[in-house]
Amino acid sequence: MSEEIKTPATNTAAPAAAAKTERPARPYMAKKRFESRRKVCKVCAEKIDNVDYKNFQFVKSFTMESGKILSRRITGTCAKHQRQITKAVKRDRNLAILPYSLPKK
Ligand SMILES: [Zn+2]
Repeated sequence: MSEEIKTPATNTAAPAAAAKTERPARPYMAKKRFESRRKVCKVCAEKIDNVDYKNFQFVKSFTMESGKILSRRITGTCAKHQRQITKAVKRDRNLAILPYSLPKK
């Protein structure tokens, strides 16, 4: 029996750099779709230290048309002022200045 001794394939020293061909930048990724804008707390910006329920025009701006309170995620208010806004909205609702809810049109 003749045994064939397999010789390892000669290592053709292929340059590693050649294998990594640089891909062209994807055209649809080239442009940013959204420009992320920094949200600023509206209460802090106007330098109001306490949200007053009597200033209902301002408080109303943090509610949806249906009467729901807008989240911090949407308006960008800080935690401290969001707490004050919710309190003010709930007070205004109790005083019938702001609605608890309005029907969807
Ligand atoms: Zn704030």
